[in-house]
Amino acid sequence: MKKFFPIISFACIAVCMSSCNQTKSANEQTSSSANNTELAEFINKIKAVDNHTHATTMDPNDKGYDALPLEALLPFELPARVRPESPVWLAAAKAVYGFKGNELNEASMKTLADTAANVMKQKGEKFPAWALDQAGIEVMLANRIAMGPGLSAPRFRWVSYVDALLYPLSTKAEAAVTPDREKLFPLEDQLLKKYLADLNISKLPATLGEYMKQVVTATLEAQKNGGCVAVKFEIAYLRSLDFEKPSLQSASEVYSKNINGGEPTHERYKLLQDFLFRYIASECGRLGMAVHIHSFPAAGNFFVATGSDPLLLESMFNDPELRNTKFVLIHGGGTFSDHTSAMLWKPNVYADLSALTFLWSPNQLAHVLVDWLSQFPEKIIFGTDAASFGPGLGWEMAAWIATTTGRQALTIALSQMISNNEISLSRAKEIATMVLRTNAGNLYNLGLK
Ligand SMILES: [Zn+2]
Repeated sequence: MKKFFPIISFACIAVCMSSCNQTKSANEQTSSSANNTELAEFINKIKAVDNHTHATTMDPNDKGYDALPLEALLPFELPARVRPESPVWLAAAKAVYGFKGNELNEASMKTLADTAANVMKQKGEKFPAWALDQAGIEVMLANRIAMGPGLSAPRFRWVSYVDALLYPLSTKAEAAVTPDREKLFPLEDQLLKKYLADLNISKLPATLGEYMKQVVTATLEAQKNGGCVAVKFEIAYLRSLDFEKPSLQSASEVYSKNINGGEPTHERYKLLQDFLFRYIASECGRLGMAVHIHSFPAAGNFFVATGSDPLLLESMFNDPELRNTKFVLIHGGGTFSDHTSAMLWKPNVYADLSALTFLWSPNQLAHVLVDWLSQFPEKIIFGTDAASFGPGLGWEMAAWIATTTGRQALTIALSQMISNNEISLSRAKEIATMVLRTNAGNLYNLGLK
């Protein structure tokens, strides 16, 4: 019986708080709405750091914006909020390009695409920085194979891809698991070839020890020297996030046995991938690069949602040898947000809001934010996942939509926390600044003023 007492007392507090809210005087209500307006104005002025995007360069043939571009998996269904007919695109068109129409149809879309193309032509390599100004973003992390024209520091910072390093052996059997993976694995094979070519290596080394040093560490060090602040795993598209901790010896056996053209079983290959994943995470800790991990139950026609649950990463987060590595759950686990909440207890785990700010409404996101921000406000990082959706619907439009949504969601969540007497207005402003700017600034040592 005893253990029920706390529940009863929590219930009493809840009843009291709701009746207190109902009996708020007119004066209190006016001051709460003034607080909300002041908070919204404050939040709208914060110069943001965007943790995750696929910004494109000014090269018209740019292909480096994603190691696993989602176009490879089209057609698949998108949530209603981001379909081309959604009003969020019209709002972005008005805000970014001064679009005058009242709807986006085939004809007006052509006008919008022409306007965007003209602005790009006129601004040239200054276009990406101009796009950041439209959304109130000071620094954007670009998750790309390589940076390129227009995407230069300090406003753009590089996040590379490292999944390809987990797959030195034949990926034929891994690719056959789903029709999506059949399309994705050849892209990882190509990227590993690029990494080898960058290192002037024509043949994979004979032993795992040599592969780790000459290929994995050498690639990570080159990325660090190239300005990388973090590396990204899109691995949930390729396999589940459960990484065990195999020995070097057992991983070496799998590598040596198959490096000359063998076909390892799934179980044996997984063991090698698990070993390499932890090795990369540990090297990133040594080099001071954060590790980004896609954790979201999509996208594609055959995505395995259960494999993207952040709880699957717990044994890695709990590994004492990886405590120098900072992990960021990209897209915050999506609908697994309560599992992300559990992982935020780990000292080196962060979550970003990218994609959630784009796919979800401000209210849906605010609901999750109240939970995360009331517990670990220093671990939550703003992001957009801005990417191009075609002519007229470029990454700059997606960045504006997600930034606007993120600011609205923060205002709703923090206003609710003020109104419940959980935090003061000044603490709400502090938390908003942390989420939109300083948490990322500290994590990546961006040297923000
Ligand atoms: Zn992304």
